[in-house]
Amino acid sequence: MGAFYKDNELIKDWVGYLAASERIEVLETHPFFTGVCSKCCASFGDSRPIHYDCNNCGWMDDSIN
Ligand SMILES: [Zn+2]
Repeated sequence: MGAFYKDNELIKDWVGYLAASERIEVLETHPFFTGVCSKCCASFGDSRPIHYDCNNCGWMDDSIN
């Protein structure tokens, strides 16, 4: 039953991910998708940093660890 247990764990994790609606809202307004700071709307331009820490207002990207 090892395989079944593994599948059950995978499904549980996936449901938990979908249920995190607040996380989805964060992603929808994240600079990675919008290109601007979600707090002060300062543009990040064409840069694609791993962490979108805003130099204008000090907003810190905490959605990616
Ligand atoms: Zn900002």
